[in-house]
Amino acid sequence: MDKKEKKRLAEATLTQIASEVSVCERCMLHHSRKLAVPGEGPVDAEIMFIGEGPGFHENQQGRPFVGAAGKYLDELLGKIQLKREDVFITNVVKCRPPNNRDPQPDELSACSDYLERQIQVINPTAIVTLGRYSMARFLPNAKISDVHGQAFKIKGRLVVPMFHPAAALHQPSLKLSIERDFARLPELISKSSKAPVVDDETPPENKSDPTQLSLFNFLE
Ligand code: URA
Ligand code: SF4
Repeated sequence: MDKKEKKRLAEATLTQIASEVSVCERCMLHHSRKLAVPGEGPVDAEIMFIGEGPGFHENQQGRPFVGAAGKYLDELLGKIQLKREDVFITNVVKCRPPNNRDPQPDELSACSDYLERQIQVINPTAIVTLGRYSMARFLPNAKISDVHGQAFKIKGRLVVPMFHPAAALHQPSLKLSIERDFARLPELISKSSKAPVVDDETPPENKSDPTQLSLFNFLE
């Protein structure tokens, strides 16, 4: 199979996932959604951004990060010479939690397979998690205030946790952090071979061990 054919097949898989998401009833969130938000971006994107879940505007339009947080995300991308069309943007839950409440464990696990399939087909070099819920999928025991802006190798892929742009918009200290972290993203990607490996076999207690975490700080 040539490259073009592979890409066409991968695009068809992404479309298939999106169409399943659009009619999904695997969790309670389907009751209150207007439109599900599968995510969008090129199938060969090098970077994948994973947020928490659709908000008001995303639910109206069926597209990720189109409200205030999305405008800010566009700005952050622009500062590192990227456009939203260059990256894949999605969320850990594809339907809006009522009143933007936190996604619940049963909703996260019901929705998990869609994201997993998106990651498999896009196969990005780097995943940037935005906010705690997205980080927890890859680093379940990490504290975002400790690890934001650091790169980890997880199952052979770079994962960089960052604060959520919606939170950063309203808190000057987080805003400074997310802007610094974004600015370092190109460098973290180019030096990805230096990122500490966190594989699934690492016992959870080691992952949250502060001495262990301090080893990761050499990137700072
Ligand atoms: N916040 C998110 O986490 N995701 C969106 O798509 C929009 C806002
Ligand atoms: Fe399905 Fe995910 Fe929407 Fe729940 S949030 S209904 S699992 S697509």
